[in-house]
Amino acid sequence: MASSWPQSPAPEALPAETDKPSTTDLYTDVLTRRAADQTFDPREIRLSEAGSCGRKQTLRALGYVPTPPNGRQLSIFETGHRVEDQVALLWQKRYPRQVKRQTTVRSPFGVGHVDIWVAPIHHLVECKTTTEKQIPRLPLASHIAQVTLYLHYWGNARGATAEIAYVIKETGEIRTYPVVYDRLRALELIAGLMEVQAAITMMQQPLEIPDDYQATQFPCAWYTPQGLERCGFWPYCWGQQVTTEQDKNDVVAVAPPLAPDVEEYAQIRQQRQALDAQARC
Ligand code: SF4
Repeated sequence: MASSWPQSPAPEALPAETDKPSTTDLYTDVLTRRAADQTFDPREIRLSEAGSCGRKQTLRALGYVPTPPNGRQLSIFETGHRVEDQVALLWQKRYPRQVKRQTTVRSPFGVGHVDIWVAPIHHLVECKTTTEKQIPRLPLASHIAQVTLYLHYWGNARGATAEIAYVIKETGEIRTYPVVYDRLRALELIAGLMEVQAAITMMQQPLEIPDDYQATQFPCAWYTPQGLERCGFWPYCWGQQVTTEQDKNDVVAVAPPLAPDVEEYAQIRQQRQALDAQARC
């Protein structure tokens, strides 16, 4: 006898378990696309790095290729983008349709991008993420340098005020620090950019490693719960002997790593710096 119950429709063909992406897969796709999206010309001097290592700017502009960021580092960059969105939303709610994102700042050296420009109050906001243990060191000198140059080349002509907004990763708390334009500091930074530019265009050689830098200390390397992480250009400074062809844009030939010598080199360097310091006293 035929059943009076309605028949269930045949199940649609579903992807096999192995074909279903996980949330981690989706996030990895986002990170991969972000890594491929190069807004900056690698040969351009970056205003955002004016207060950081000048040698890094010269290495990049001369065609040395950095070690690509690992998944953890890409995820940290992505978190930075999300934080900027969050901070921008706060300003957009207060000033709807009057907040601009990523305004280009041009200089004779290269470009920079103002994270958030609040047009009605002529206010510039630079967003950063940091950790609780960094709070006593805020605002960082390198971030003040970046905003100082944004004011110099763009903000001052618009009567701008400026702040750095730090989002604390562990708590989501936001701490803001005003940046007051300091003309002397701006001139110092511009002198540093001129040095970088001369190394790239006239000398065609990277700047030397700054005297007070060490192979295992920030900004060359730093410790994380996952171990030591390094600046992408670390091998060209500390880990490998580099010889370059005349045109560094074409070829960078790298000799085998000299890792066992690095520790000794760092010790000798530290001793030399200590002796130099004594001699200056
Ligand atoms: S490893 Fe250190 S000296 Fe070399 S580019 Fe990076 S920050 Fe500069």
